[in-house]
Amino acid sequence: MQKYLESSVIVAKFGGTSVADLPALQRCADIIQANPAIRVVVVSAAAGVTNRLVALAKGKSNDAERMQLLSEIMAIQHSISGELLPTPEINAQLREYLSRMAELSAYLSEVGVEASKQDELLALGERCSSMFLAELLRQRGLTSRDFDACQVIRTDSHFGNAEARPMRIGMLAKEYLKPLLENYCVVTQGFIGSDAADRVTTLGRGGSDLSAALFAEALKAHALQIWTDVDGIYTCDPRQVPSARPIAEITFAEAAEMATFGAKILHPATLLPAQRAQVPVFVGCTREPEKPGTWIKSKTQQRPVCRALSLRRGQVLLTARSLNMLHARGFLAELFAILARHRISVDLITTSEVSVALTLDATGSHSSGNSLISNELLAELAPLCDVEVEDGLALVAIIGHELSNTPEVASRVFQMIAKKNIRMISQGASPNNLCILVREDDASDILNTLHRGFLET
Ligand code: ADP
Ligand code: ASP
Ligand code: MG
Repeated sequence: MQKYLESSVIVAKFGGTSVADLPALQRCADIIQANPAIRVVVVSAAAGVTNRLVALAKGKSNDAERMQLLSEIMAIQHSISGELLPTPEINAQLREYLSRMAELSAYLSEVGVEASKQDELLALGERCSSMFLAELLRQRGLTSRDFDACQVIRTDSHFGNAEARPMRIGMLAKEYLKPLLENYCVVTQGFIGSDAADRVTTLGRGGSDLSAALFAEALKAHALQIWTDVDGIYTCDPRQVPSARPIAEITFAEAAEMATFGAKILHPATLLPAQRAQVPVFVGCTREPEKPGTWIKSKTQQRPVCRALSLRRGQVLLTARSLNMLHARGFLAELFAILARHRISVDLITTSEVSVALTLDATGSHSSGNSLISNELLAELAPLCDVEVEDGLALVAIIGHELSNTPEVASRVFQMIAKKNIRMISQGASPNNLCILVREDDASDILNTLHRGFLET
């Protein structure tokens, strides 16, 4: 193994499809072996595992459904271990993880839902992946070890959507992780952490990207690599807009806006730690690692007015009406205090004399998939205002530079989609985005039209 240089450590994260089966894990191992600076590897659960664990964690399945979900998860994990032919110790560890899955899911269905147990269950998918990849690397002759992310990723106790404690993470990484890097390529889990009482927590769906960025920040890494199933960040989700193309370079601010407004390629909070620590981020494809991919940096050579589009489906518009709002002070403060108590932040907002309309920020959505608008929230709002909830909406964001200071951007948007209804528009708070709320049925058409107009000319 090449000599360890503290300043050149690279953190590499592999997502669910990249660790889905043994051939996929072999591709990860190829990338890791080709670059000795990769000393920390962060993995997701194999594709399909977390979705099934989420279904089990809800505790609503009957015995037959539970057995079915468990056997599907076991089939995925056994197909990997069957081909990998791991040591008896790894086989014993796998048995332990799978039986813990069965125990916890039975508890959640029979005794009742408990948030800390839900997170302990959800974490088991990532635990299987890191165990397998560390073993595979050892079989290929690398000194590698499986490391429990909970030793370093300290969070608060909001199970399902826990918030990381970067200062504490920095200290723990120095104590427990750094000393290992001289001799080992460390494989660890994304998505999971622990609270001050050492209970397992999760960071919200897609949270492995965030974990990797937190490790990169804590280690002051030279770079963070996000390996996934597309060869970089595209001008729009290629599944939505077939003519989208990869972007060579993008700024932290733009990429953060893209992620926040729906580009699933990165967890929305990923870029905060990377930007804080000025760690450049590379996004590339595990199947085609030779492709140029995308670099996310503080500054880019080109600064186009429009860089990309993103789409967030399933948006909910909450309109709060109250005659007390007329010339009154403090209405918004009260409304926002209630939303804050329910840990909801607001995305877009427009106000009129007696009403305020807002969409809710689903950033780092709860691991359990629970809806943001709960009956408890509506009951708390009822004495303050009349509330109307509209769904079936989608948010389209145009991401770029100086959008609010560039004449004609808004007029071009309106002209291009003149026949569609725009339910709400938000521009000006950030120079990096212009957002429109539209009917979900129209979203695909609108996205393709705007892409043609702004990004294909
Ligand atoms: P992983 O399991 O590796 O974390 P994800 O499924 O979370 O992968 O993210 C990758 C997916 O993100 C791609 O398959 C693609 O469909 C989607 N995606 C959304 N927006 C974009 C975009 N602008 N560029 C590239 N991919 C995008
Ligand atoms: N396995 C988790 C999920 O599916 C975390 C991740 O893949 O980033 O949400
Ligand atoms: Mg992801």
